[in-house]
Amino acid sequence: MLRSLLSGIVMLIKIGCGGVNLGKLHPSMQKVLSAVALVWGSEEPVITSTWDGTHSPGSWHQFCMALDFRLPNNHLVAAQKLMQKLGTDYDVVLEGDHIHIEYDPKED
Ligand SMILES: [Zn+2]
Repeated sequence: MLRSLLSGIVMLIKIGCGGVNLGKLHPSMQKVLSAVALVWGSEEPVITSTWDGTHSPGSWHQFCMALDFRLPNNHLVAAQKLMQKLGTDYDVVLEGDHIHIEYDPKED
């Protein structure tokens, strides 16, 4: 379990699988962790994948700019809130058993 202090928010994040490693996290993911902590509220966020595992070619996972989280209880509402908090530079995708969040800045 990782205890992280972000913008005054103390958050416990459970690492879902043995292979999950946060050591190379891209700075853009700090905003994701903060947003997830706020949106999940009292529920414990669980990261299920970072850049480990098998992802599609060109996936932001390989650049440490995407995270997967186990679905929270009300995942449809959570996904909407995440999109509002993160803005258009981030993509929030419901993928069956997890929420995929990636940093994907859009050109103006
Ligand atoms: Zn993913």
